[in-house]
Amino acid sequence: MSPRDLYPDVQWIWMNGQLVEFEKATVHVMTHALHYGSGVFEGIRCYKTRQGSGVFRLPEHLKRLRNSAKIYRMELPFSDAELTQATLTTIQANELEACYIRPLVYRGLGPMGVNPLNAPVETSIAVWPWGRYLGEDAIERGVDVCVSSWRRAAPSTFPATAKATGNYLNAQLIKMEALGNGYAEGIGLDISGHVSEGAGENIFLVKDGALITPPVASSLLAGITRDAILTIASELGIPVREQLVPRGMLYTCEELFFTGTAVEIAPIRSVDRLPVGDGLPGEITRRLIAEFQRIVAGEVPDRHGWLTPVFVAVRQEAVS
Ligand code: PMP
Repeated sequence: MSPRDLYPDVQWIWMNGQLVEFEKATVHVMTHALHYGSGVFEGIRCYKTRQGSGVFRLPEHLKRLRNSAKIYRMELPFSDAELTQATLTTIQANELEACYIRPLVYRGLGPMGVNPLNAPVETSIAVWPWGRYLGEDAIERGVDVCVSSWRRAAPSTFPATAKATGNYLNAQLIKMEALGNGYAEGIGLDISGHVSEGAGENIFLVKDGALITPPVASSLLAGITRDAILTIASELGIPVREQLVPRGMLYTCEELFFTGTAVEIAPIRSVDRLPVGDGLPGEITRRLIAEFQRIVAGEVPDRHGWLTPVFVAVRQEAVS
């Protein structure tokens, strides 16, 4: 399969300050990040709203990117204003009204060896249309998941705070084990056995009517969707708590769901083959999904300023 077949809608990729043609957006095999996992990145969504396209929580994503880079002592060669403009330009150039956005900052071609400090810091932004990560019907029916035998990295190994490319080797182990055993996704426990998060999503549960999610100290990425859900839940008057979650609670809670940019909000209908509640998305989950969707569709005022508008002129198909 050619790269074009994989991404038929993508014409342009932003690399180090300019748009380059999709086919030319390549790197050398001696790129440091390829050998040593030295990259940090983001996953962002641009939604088609009633008022035009809007990028969801772009400043928060760029802040997290900058912080991830800081942890790995990478100096971002571009300001937030420049990266904002670059993101909007890339969306516009590809004429995508709704898309997923992937900024990547990585150590490029430099002297080989673990020491990353002499490899140049490169920056790219790719955009492509991307449906819901765990499937379009996940939101209606929920997904079947398992608890992984792989643990999330201990805080003294890789900081989960950084959204670093190397962290996703652990995520891949969790994901492959889950898929191999017939599940859509795996849940990682932290080093002390508390629930951490999914391979690429944060996790929430509803217990006795309260919304609970593990704290960031449980080796998880501080998700921006997680933050949005905590905010929306409070606004809806749902009691929210960040607390350590013992594994057993996964089997006894009333509702369970994942959150993340790619997955959005995905109800979980079973864990290790035990049904969650009555096996259907619960009431609190459905209320949160509905409000989240109203916000990203522009059906309610953007009360938190979560959408950065971007004008996308879509080419009209020639009518013969
Ligand atoms: N945890 C991990 C490991 C992730 O990769 C993601 C996706 N970025 C999330 C949580 C969710 O974060 P966000 O809501 O910011 O996309």
